[in-house]
Amino acid sequence: MSQKSRRIPTRTCVVCREKRERQDLLRIVKTPEGKIIFDATGRIDGRGAYVCRVADHIGAGRRSGGIDRGKLENALKVEIDDSTVKLLSDAINLHIAEQSI
Ligand SMILES: [Zn+2]
Repeated sequence: MSQKSRRIPTRTCVVCREKRERQDLLRIVKTPEGKIIFDATGRIDGRGAYVCRVADHIGAGRRSGGIDRGKLENALKVEIDDSTVKLLSDAINLHIAEQSI
């Protein structure tokens, strides 16, 4: 009998600080050029921040209608402007919509 347990890599959500499996998180990346983008593949180069795949983290019901900007800014050490927040939110919503078909 093997004593080996399968290790599942986890990441911490920047909004609620919960540890989750990577597949349950959305990755947002600051690229080497300083752009903030949603990384659907998980393979884009840069500093990444992870956010739970839940509606209230990504803007649903949030008055600004966008992702939790302050937490992301802290995690990525960058300022995120309104248009970037909108682009991120749109990309994430589209990604989630595609996956739930
Ligand atoms: Zn979370």
